[in-house]
Amino acid sequence: MTEVAAGVFVHNGVHEEASAANEDGIANIGFIVGNDAVAVIDPGGSFAEGRALRAAIRALTDRPIRYVILTHVHPDHIFGAAAFRDDHPDFIGHDRLPGALNQRGEYYMRRLRDALGDEANGTEVVPPTRLVADRLDLDLGGRRLTVQAHRPAHTDNDLTVYDNKTRTFWLGDLLFVDRIPVIDGSLVGWLNQLNELTSIPADRAVPGHGPVSVPWPAAAKPERRYLEAVARDTRAAIKSGIGIANAYRQVANSERGHWLLFDEYHPRNVTTAYKELEWE
Ligand SMILES: [Zn+2]
Repeated sequence: MTEVAAGVFVHNGVHEEASAANEDGIANIGFIVGNDAVAVIDPGGSFAEGRALRAAIRALTDRPIRYVILTHVHPDHIFGAAAFRDDHPDFIGHDRLPGALNQRGEYYMRRLRDALGDEANGTEVVPPTRLVADRLDLDLGGRRLTVQAHRPAHTDNDLTVYDNKTRTFWLGDLLFVDRIPVIDGSLVGWLNQLNELTSIPADRAVPGHGPVSVPWPAAAKPERRYLEAVARDTRAAIKSGIGIANAYRQVANSERGHWLLFDEYHPRNVTTAYKELEWE
């Protein structure tokens, strides 16, 4: 764990696909410690990773783990939640998260078992027990966290967390650095959200993927450049009658070489963008 600011701890995910070797530890996850309580921000990608995170917390403090914030539906962020059940925290999620888990939870579980084998043991879908429709302030004792629910962007159930004490802005997957962004909500929505998010002053940001701490808002620049390129080139492809299956070949090629896992995710991003933009 890296302490990126006083009392703010982040574990750096690896830039790989989920596997037994990495226990689906591919996202940045962590926790924030107040005078009275601890808040986990993303419990990790599997029960095994969640248990390791819990052990890291207990090595530092015995304050109660009162909140487990689930930034969005993707398994690499939240499938470690079961490791915190015995702490009886509030599991906090966007008010659209239960619907997304109903739709995709079983599929994600199957895929995790395929990727991790026995390392997936103990992993369960844990639904949120406390929902955020707009914003929610959490008091950890001498430390206030602001949880904000967002309109569709990376997914349709993204939360961010702002630590007012250290001005640390935890963005989950609304911010990708180095690893290619995944569009699973709304491309246009994401670009709009970026305008709002980058106007919020912070001393540092924690991206969902990338280094554990980055300057804000400078670190959002490459992501915006990629998303703008996808939007611009996909609109052009639609206009010139190129079909959805082939569009990715001519969309945002200038971005290749700037991102890890580009070939794994870029074609899918273009397909998602195409479906959204062809209705404009
Ligand atoms: Zn995600």
